[in-house]
Amino acid sequence: MNAYSDPQALLAEAKKSILFTAVRPELIMEKGKGMHLWDTDKKEYLDFVGGWAVTSLGHCPEAIVNALHHQSRELINASPSFFNKPMLEFANLLTKHSCFDRVFFASSGAEANEGAVKLARKHGAKNLNGAFEMITMVNSFHGRTLAMMSATGKKKWENLFEPKVAGFKHVPFNDLNALKEALSPNTCAIMLEPIQGEGGVFEVEKNYIQAIRKICNEQEILLIFDEVQTGLGRTGKLFAYEHYGIEPDIMTLAKGIGGGFPLSALLTKEKWNLFDAGDQGGTYSGQPLGMAVGSAVLKEILEKKLVENAEKQGSYIQNKLGDIAGQFKLTNIRGKGLLIAFDLPQAKGSEVVAACLANGLLINSPQPATIRLMPPLIVTTKDVDAMIEILSASLTEVFNG
Ligand SMILES: *Cc1c(COP(=O)(O)O)cnc(C)c1O
Repeated sequence: MNAYSDPQALLAEAKKSILFTAVRPELIMEKGKGMHLWDTDKKEYLDFVGGWAVTSLGHCPEAIVNALHHQSRELINASPSFFNKPMLEFANLLTKHSCFDRVFFASSGAEANEGAVKLARKHGAKNLNGAFEMITMVNSFHGRTLAMMSATGKKKWENLFEPKVAGFKHVPFNDLNALKEALSPNTCAIMLEPIQGEGGVFEVEKNYIQAIRKICNEQEILLIFDEVQTGLGRTGKLFAYEHYGIEPDIMTLAKGIGGGFPLSALLTKEKWNLFDAGDQGGTYSGQPLGMAVGSAVLKEILEKKLVENAEKQGSYIQNKLGDIAGQFKLTNIRGKGLLIAFDLPQAKGSEVVAACLANGLLINSPQPATIRLMPPLIVTTKDVDAMIEILSASLTEVFNG
């Protein structure tokens, strides 16, 4: 036994060692299986956050455990200067199941988005007389690197870590006139989330995105979909762009693609296969463990029909929320598939999250008066019923207690 056989003693000591970046509850997560997490006190949590829309197959799924076990005995790393078998297999799988021809692999959403910005600027440099500007959306979220903080349309970040990376113009979401006014000969790309996740689950309008597609075609501007949160079945289609009858030029994926393993991808069409050797790369690009996991996750999503399940359970969740909406004055129940949000009668999101946590349910509040649900794609109606029960009890505590 060491000095830290008591997890709370370990926490008390180690909290002083961890650089402060986030307020976290005083508990330590220890185990996960399927829809559940357990902390070191053996308390069980029903997980409707899914590691932030990440654990698409649930916690510790056999598919990922087996892929890691097998691949870690074959090859863990051979460097990005060589092809490896899992990389080739995963690239084929992704291009086969999407409208894209080419893929670049990275480890995080922000990194994939950085690649998208670089590819757009490369296009601008090669084909558009040096155009470099990108139009992004107010209330968007694209990640936490310096360039992605510049791309992100988050009010709170406006004056943070100045000076920002130049070349990003933010326009209100779903406002075509504002977008047209922002266009200039310097524009090389338009980037958006088909459903704004961190912003509170707001969906792009079909007419708007189809009009943008037309503008991009006419002016040879790239349309970039950040599907870091919406990709891989989350919205009830394998990729969210399938909802809108258009194809983007670039799509970025992360979160659900690795089911919890750090993995991301940038996909594009053959026409935009523009990088010269050395323009883009990364030590872990195409890293065999990640590639093996990515293939295993996508195969499992397809074989177990989890996209269909996301669609079905998503409707069930929205109906169930509808049933309790009157009682708790919940409004604007919205979203697609298993990316769902609703508004509370008061800005008490963090109190509702805390009450649910105490009652053994993980949910998320992306905005002060908004609750978001993004459970693993394996969620069942039984899990949904259990979630609604705990949520109802917690809402009662917060608003009528
Ligand atoms: C989470 C998220 C990102 C950032 O991904 P990281 O892996 O944290 O870098 C980017 N875009 C969207 C839409 C996201 O939801």
